[in-house]
Amino acid sequence: MPYDSHSRNSSKLIGELHLIERIRTRASASAAPAVRLGIGDDCAVLKPPPGHELLVTTDFSLEGRHFRRDWHSAASAGHRTLARGLSDLAAMGAKPLAAFLSLALPKSAARNTRWLDGFLDGLLSLASIHHVPLAGGDTSESPSDHILADIVLLGSAPAGRALRRSTARPGDLLYCTGALGGAAAELAALAASPRKFRNAQPIGDHPHLFPQPRLAVGQTLLRRRLATACIDLSDGLSTDLAHLCTASHVAAELDLAQLPLHPLAATFDDRAQITALLHGGEDYELLFTAGPATKIPRSIANVPITRIGRIVKPQKNQPQMSLLSDGLRFELQSHGWEHLT
Ligand code: ADP
Ligand code: MG
Repeated sequence: MPYDSHSRNSSKLIGELHLIERIRTRASASAAPAVRLGIGDDCAVLKPPPGHELLVTTDFSLEGRHFRRDWHSAASAGHRTLARGLSDLAAMGAKPLAAFLSLALPKSAARNTRWLDGFLDGLLSLASIHHVPLAGGDTSESPSDHILADIVLLGSAPAGRALRRSTARPGDLLYCTGALGGAAAELAALAASPRKFRNAQPIGDHPHLFPQPRLAVGQTLLRRRLATACIDLSDGLSTDLAHLCTASHVAAELDLAQLPLHPLAATFDDRAQITALLHGGEDYELLFTAGPATKIPRSIANVPITRIGRIVKPQKNQPQMSLLSDGLRFELQSHGWEHLT
């Protein structure tokens, strides 16, 4: 029988309540002023700061698609689940208010809570760095052998001020935070020898396993009115720049020599370096535009900022994105980022 409400409910009493209690105990350390009521009732109650709007984003983290248990430690899976949502808030300049986690665990992972404990270690350490309370969620037995997680993040920004991808203008200059291609390089190394990364910790530079969402940069861009538009780099520069251009009805030029290569990609040959820079996904850096007269600091919140190109008027018969290198101009096309499987 595909669905049996009685046996579903009784299994919930035994397994799921125990898991929820385990999560609640660990999450209670993350109380925050915006959360009037957290885990334990039918709904959480949140109070956004006066004069602010709510921003909401939701992201799946599915075993086999976004992480693999034989490649990613549970802590890395937990960290990455939250980091994806936080990066979306960062891109809009928002401050996180609360996170909600829906989890479906296969029977084996519900019985032996080692994986769940590691997942919470990773998720809650990143949450505490950014003062994001875990204020609720849902827990269920997975219908397959796969772990499924979905994170919902609520954030706030001053009314009407959230950064958007649709507001870049011709003449603006194009910037990115941090370095590019590091996540793609670490993923390649991970695929080649997963065992080397088994004990990787969220300290040091692990752009794929433990990416650092750029919340402070996004909030500064908003607060100081530095950016005209912003997007996070989740799918790779060539894909996310195309999203920004399409949404803003503009075209863009990138200066290949200016693109900041992550040191982990430095051992790649030239061609692979360019691929990592342009098409490597999951760096979770910010890509933003600013007016030509706006002074952009070399670094914001200790994150280096690099000018990498400019926004131009879209022209008929001209590509939406061009790449300039050694005085030559190439057409740049989006190169979709393939997920793990
Ligand atoms: P309901 O049946 O009313 O949805 P649940 O038994 O699913 O209640 O959840 C009880 C409480 O535990 C709720 O406050 C819910 O938000 C919280 N909760 C359930 N699962 C999770 C989870 N994976 N992470 C965080 N909070 C959770
Ligand atoms: Mg529920």
